[in-house]
Amino acid sequence: MKALITGGAGFIGSHLADELLAKSHTVAILDDLSTGRMSNISHLKTNPNFELIVGTVLNEYLVDKLVERCDVVFHLAAAVGVELIVKKPLESLTTNIKGSETILEMAYRYNKKILITSTSEIYGKNVNGPLKEGDDRILGSPLKVRWSYSTAKAVDEMLAYVYWKEKNVPTIIVRLFNTVGPRQTGYYGMVVPRFVEQALNNKPITVYGTGKQSRCFIHVKDVVSALIKLTEEPHSVGEVFNIGSQHEITIEQLAKEITKITKSKSQIEHIPYEKAYEEGFEDMQRRIPDTTKLNKLIGFKPTYTLAQIIQDIVKYQKDTNKPHR
Ligand code: UDP
Repeated sequence: MKALITGGAGFIGSHLADELLAKSHTVAILDDLSTGRMSNISHLKTNPNFELIVGTVLNEYLVDKLVERCDVVFHLAAAVGVELIVKKPLESLTTNIKGSETILEMAYRYNKKILITSTSEIYGKNVNGPLKEGDDRILGSPLKVRWSYSTAKAVDEMLAYVYWKEKNVPTIIVRLFNTVGPRQTGYYGMVVPRFVEQALNNKPITVYGTGKQSRCFIHVKDVVSALIKLTEEPHSVGEVFNIGSQHEITIEQLAKEITKITKSKSQIEHIPYEKAYEEGFEDMQRRIPDTTKLNKLIGFKPTYTLAQIIQDIVKYQKDTNKPHR
């Protein structure tokens, strides 16, 4: 199989490239290196089945050529992370909506299977848990830029769905819930690499708000194995799937767990949301996926415990031994 991964130099994309190459597939990566990093893929440079194309998903001519010569597209290129979206809303909206539209149009032109990565942000402030794929989206005002990520991704999902319904493009949609692991940077706000870095440097752990908000963290390796299985399974076409762990932990507990594992002297420092993000910022208080649908189709079950995930990230940060900026 010849796979095209947009955003393949990013955190998730680079792990996906590793796994596909390990399974003897051919991989082409399209990445504009805005948040993706060469260091994530430099170990692949000598692999004859690997190719990197530096460019943007907004370049129609380039996307046309790359989609034409692949068998399957994994569309991961996106502006990610709530902090980045809040800081650069216009650029984020353009990349996320126009980029997906371009790649879907090319998948239609050449009739290629395409997996679109969406997000748990789709559910917005719906705190019911566990969240099922058909559950409601509850969002704040569109004038709060925080919701632009959720909205852009919802447009991507709708596009993918109607390209399937109206034009028979074999699309698959996945909603990723708090995927973490080596190579993820804390620079764009992601909590686990950030806390690990703070703990390893004995700096204050920056818990936003009360710290009572909760999340479920999943190892990136469990996620990429699900992504590959979904593209191999014909019944996934035209469907949307949650991918995540169901092990819920509050952010305060997470901070404590990370200080314990790293034997850090760090103390927790509470930071109000308006200081961390923007005035009137609304956080998701709780986010747990219902993964029954994924489990039924591909026998999905996360294999890493939270402690193992944290240890893996600690090891990575110690090995690379540099601030993740
Ligand atoms: N968070 C935090 N301190 C940080 C970064 C994030 O307390 O330095 C919180 C954030 O407000 C949210 C949770 O950790 O409640 C998860 O944030 P992340 O950006 O990793 O993912 P999200 O679930 O918000 O997409």
